Amino acid sequence: MSAEFFIMLLNPGIGALLSAAFLLLWLSQRGKTYILYASIGYGLNALAFFIQDVVFQYFAAPLPGSAERIFTNLIFLLSGWLLSAAVLGRYGLKPSYRFLAAVTVAGVGGVSWYLLADPSVMGRVLAMNTALGAITLMIVLKLRPVRRRHLIDRLLFGMAVISAANYIVRPATILATQGSFGPAAEFQHSLYWTTVQFTQPLISIGLALNLMVAIAIDLIEELRREARTDKLSGLLNRGGFEAAANATLGRKGVDANLPVCLIIADLDHFKQINDTFGHSVGDAVIGLFGRHIAAMASEDMVAGRIGGEEFAVLLPGHEVQAARLFAESLRACPWDYWSGMLPDALSPGVSIGVSAALPGASLHDLMNMADEALYDAKNDGRNQVCLYGSKSAAAPTATLHLIKVPR
Ligand code: GH3
Ligand code: MG
Ligand code: MG
Repeated sequence: MSAEFFIMLLNPGIGALLSAAFLLLWLSQRGKTYILYASIGYGLNALAFFIQDVVFQYFAAPLPGSAERIFTNLIFLLSGWLLSAAVLGRYGLKPSYRFLAAVTVAGVGGVSWYLLADPSVMGRVLAMNTALGAITLMIVLKLRPVRRRHLIDRLLFGMAVISAANYIVRPATILATQGSFGPAAEFQHSLYWTTVQFTQPLISIGLALNLMVAIAIDLIEELRREARTDKLSGLLNRGGFEAAANATLGRKGVDANLPVCLIIADLDHFKQINDTFGHSVGDAVIGLFGRHIAAMASEDMVAGRIGGEEFAVLLPGHEVQAARLFAESLRACPWDYWSGMLPDALSPGVSIGVSAALPGASLHDLMNMADEALYDAKNDGRNQVCLYGSKSAAAPTATLHLIKVPR
């Protein structure tokens, strides 16, 4: 066996290894079908290279030459289908299957024509590269409007562009400099096929590494989100709330003239609800109140469950009166809307404390003040909103204390 034989094993070998790696990744994340598509896509790529470069070159061919070429080119195109579905799937997008089918029919039709009706290496090479180039261009066009949040998104997009260029620019360059792709009998030794042997593994590995890093980054983000989220209420947990609130307070560009407000809401007589109706009803109340907060809060607010039946919402850039109205809307939780999920007539009260400060104040100070206001609300009969320093909801907001922090 010649040294060339081992070089020919390179593409099928790399395809098989990448296919196995994606299969292992998919086995631990079965919800992400696009990882399975990548595994099958690389597997088909390996199979097509294996049949074309190894089986038909070094072993007795099970199919006549022309049938083999049509078959391997069809597999190359199907591999393109699956890899495009894999890359687009990571963004929740789908390839246009009609377009893929049309490209496959045209590509295989072109190869068949230039094999059987009008034998021409140039025709076959151009038919296949145009078809594969069209598939990669479709990926580029579909990914173009997607917001690229991370560096890896830009790298994946760049990989799709390089892949498209490889199918379109490379054959055009060889044609311009060589005048042809070489004689049919010598095709496997032509400059064209050598560039395929060289560029294909680089692009395959490049795309696979980008996809794998993207999968790893997605997984880390999911775990991070999970660690910050409170399952019962669907809001941030205490740690997540503090981290997000501190990040918001530290962010530049907050309007220096508008206060930052903090709301702490505590469900009234919650122990009694648990004791009367059972712990699962208590849990349902926490879940529903969390849902209510999430529905009322706007995107710039930070909302979390900071204790058993205690919730906090940070409102950056809000006037105190707006925060107070918002707190009232939280208190007016539509419990009867979920009457099927709660015992009849259960309508828990909510006591709320509101604090406000100029930007630059610490979360610690805002929490302490809101806690004091909450204490006032509890002492004043519960199920009401109290502003820090006002003793009761009815008190004029002029008594509200804004801490002035030197900036
Ligand atoms: P107050 O009106 O003064 O706030 O009285 P309260 O009964 O609401 O407050 P207290 O602090 O006495 O009791 C809170 C109860 O909340 C005690 C605890 O068992 C219960 N609790 C804490 N976390 C959970 C939870 O995740 N699920 C349920 N069902 N109950 C919880
Ligand atoms: Mg309570
Ligand atoms: Mg409490």
